[in-house]
Amino acid sequence: MNVLASRISGSVPFVVRDEVSPERVDAFFEMNDEGCRAISPLRYEARLIGTKRGIRLEASINAELERLCSRCGKADTLAMTWQVVLMLVDEAQAPKRDEVVLETDDLDVIFYKDVIDLEHIVLETVYVELDSHYLCDDSCHGVCLKCGANLNETACRCHPV
Ligand SMILES: [Zn+2]
Ligand SMILES: [Zn+2]
Repeated sequence: MNVLASRISGSVPFVVRDEVSPERVDAFFEMNDEGCRAISPLRYEARLIGTKRGIRLEASINAELERLCSRCGKADTLAMTWQVVLMLVDEAQAPKRDEVVLETDDLDVIFYKDVIDLEHIVLETVYVELDSHYLCDDSCHGVCLKCGANLNETACRCHPV
């Protein structure tokens, strides 16, 4: 959802609840070549609060993702939640960029111009937070590179027990 920055004023939070269809989530991740698929709409609640330095964004994000183990290829369904706090700063302040970044209490800063694209910010956040290599288990034995057997389920001739 796009929010006009001018709608956020003062300390009363502007609250947005929205969802992103699995198709849109997938389009975003496929573009970035992730082994990852959304199996239900990604839901988020964002609270936007005007501050002296910019707009403080507090978001809670829920997604149900199918991920493939990067060793054995097994598909797991994961319910995931992220809480993020970011500072959104008007691009018009870009000439003072470094100064602005230093003054935002160590929060990650995102610049916007007039309109805040919440969906993009949310998807980008999830993308950054996701490990690119998902393992079904830390001790996953993967598949045999010679015969293709799943070594979690069976021993193969190439790897006698
Ligand atoms: Zn695995
Ligand atoms: Zn084998």
